[in-house]
Amino acid sequence: MKFHKRSIRLAGFYLIIIMVISIFFSANVYQLSVQELERGLRRTGQALNDPVNRTIPNRLRQQLFDEREELFKDAKERVAQRLLFTNLLILVGGGILSYFLALRTLKPIEEANESLERFTADASHELRTPITAMRTENEVALMNSKLTTLQAKKILQSNIEELDKLTDLMNGLLRLASLDKTQLQLKSIAVENLVQESVQRTLPLAEKKDILVTTKIGGPATVICDQTSIVEALVILVDNAIKYSPRKSEVSIVVRKSGKNTAIEVADKGVGIKATALPHIFERFYRADSSRNKQHANGYGLGLSIAKDIVALHGGDISVTSTPGKGSTFTVQIPTKQ
Ligand code: ADP
Repeated sequence: MKFHKRSIRLAGFYLIIIMVISIFFSANVYQLSVQELERGLRRTGQALNDPVNRTIPNRLRQQLFDEREELFKDAKERVAQRLLFTNLLILVGGGILSYFLALRTLKPIEEANESLERFTADASHELRTPITAMRTENEVALMNSKLTTLQAKKILQSNIEELDKLTDLMNGLLRLASLDKTQLQLKSIAVENLVQESVQRTLPLAEKKDILVTTKIGGPATVICDQTSIVEALVILVDNAIKYSPRKSEVSIVVRKSGKNTAIEVADKGVGIKATALPHIFERFYRADSSRNKQHANGYGLGLSIAKDIVALHGGDISVTSTPGKGSTFTVQIPTKQ
């Protein structure tokens, strides 16, 4: 409703501008036409008064004078009517055009606005949940007059865990906010190095779950990228692959050529993603149902949107294919250095 009202208001502004210009031109056209008509009137008047035309009888001359005046008035009226009609047409046409133009102008602003509102609501919800949990826990502990040191320590430990989650969330939010302003340090980097660094960074988590991370580099490939950012994106993908896989399974990273791009595939044999969830997993704060039920044990749904933004900054894209219960494959495509 607000959007509709805003569009109409903007269309009104556009229409006022169009009409001011149109009326200004019409007034000028009218003035010039009248001047021309008056000049014609004067010229015919002079012609009738010319001694050559003295032979014309007075009554006929008077009649010619009167007809001349009538014609002049008629022509003036017709010019005015035409201009009025043209302005009415411009008013109707301009009104419709202004409305569509206003819709086009406001649509992206409205979408950005809606996305910001959704983001703020989601972020506040995610922030409120651990804060409420901590508060309740502390209040219950305070009311317990027989609270033992062990119990107090347990509560403090739980508070620290919640604070760690909040820190993760804040870091994710800050990273998302800073992505637009990130100055990429672009350099030629061998894709193999990017993959190896990402594997190294995710090794502790893989070892914890006894997961084997294999790599296969299909020929040498170099990309122009900001190493830290691309490794960050790959770590998010490998991290997820491990997180959403059963113990003792395998995660594979394959690098291959894909037209002008280099494709880096991160495949797992984990829980997979439902077809209904697939179109949303790159949205901020989106978590597939299964992981949401685990109460943030697996994150806040910011990782993939950060990864996607990073890859997009490099002129690339991330896509995904998945079969529930069988596993998922995330493919990063970045332009290869020619
Ligand atoms: P999170 O921090 O919740 O993992 P992400 O943005 O990284 O957030 O991922 C969004 C959602 O996509 C996850 O909650 C999960 O449901 C799904 N997801 C991402 N990667 C995988 C994967 N490899 N296997 C199964 N589901 C995944």
